[in-house]
Amino acid sequence: MTNTAHWIRQTHLFRKDEYQCSACGFLSGKPAAACLHCGAKMKGAKSGRSWVDEMAAFDAIFED
Ligand SMILES: [Zn+2]
Repeated sequence: MTNTAHWIRQTHLFRKDEYQCSACGFLSGKPAAACLHCGAKMKGAKSGRSWVDEMAAFDAIFED
């Protein structure tokens, strides 16, 4: 069985955003292609490619 879900972005004022799986509630530090916990395939909530690009740019800003 292949589930699909999407990341719910949890913004925080003083630390990096987290991404919550809409299927199982797992919190991830970055929006992976699939949930690390339940394995659901992630769909961009908005228009796919631009959403991914936006996330990639956002990660770059906060890269350690
Ligand atoms: Zn999940």
